[in-house]
Amino acid sequence: MMLHIIPALKDNYIWLLETSNQHVIIVDPSESQPVIDYLNQKQLIPITILLTHHHQDHIDGVMALKNYYPNLPVYGPNEINLPINHITDHSEIMIDNQIIKIIAVPGHTIGHLAYYCKPYLFCGDTLFSAGCGRIFEGTYQQMFNSLNKLKQLPNSTIVCPAHEYTLSNLEFSRHILPNDEDINAYYQQIKHQTITLPSTIGKEKRINLFLRCDEAFLQKQFNMQNALDLFKFFRTQKDNF
Ligand SMILES: [Zn+2]
Repeated sequence: MMLHIIPALKDNYIWLLETSNQHVIIVDPSESQPVIDYLNQKQLIPITILLTHHHQDHIDGVMALKNYYPNLPVYGPNEINLPINHITDHSEIMIDNQIIKIIAVPGHTIGHLAYYCKPYLFCGDTLFSAGCGRIFEGTYQQMFNSLNKLKQLPNSTIVCPAHEYTLSNLEFSRHILPNDEDINAYYQQIKHQTITLPSTIGKEKRINLFLRCDEAFLQKQFNMQNALDLFKFFRTQKDNF
């Protein structure tokens, strides 16, 4: 398998997973034209579209792609009001002999799904590099649980979020933890890069505050009783940063 990344809109990424024989799975096409141009240029054949959640900057390219590539199957959660195949948690889909596990990750939206095609994780607006999505529809508890589910995946998991927010997330992290060596080192490493993704679960466990809420010394430092309270604190601070 091979991963392709197409920048779109202001700071979106459309991921392509090439399974075999020039076949690709398209994830969250926010626009159609950059995808069509890329596929034509590389002579790739789309075989499926996967959608993580209902926000426009993840689905706006779907209908034009379906017009351009008739019979292209599209999968996504029930919350997406388009003529697609609706799927739910714990289901698996088989595409080109690859098993794709569906993981429900509510929080950013209620129906948000992540797709795990080992070792690749397509996590939409749930987990970002050095950050996480805003909680628009779910609860803090739901988002916290969702991130913990993703954190259980192997450290070698290749994390493919839908936005390039790494630098601003690290700026927030440095504001919260000015002396954290891993965060500072990673900030220095990526600060001039335009594309910082994909990441890995192993890396995120070191540089992502939202995956580190179970660290006792951090709970103590911010006077929090438990991991969920610390998560709420970090998330509300980030919302106002
Ligand atoms: Zn979103």
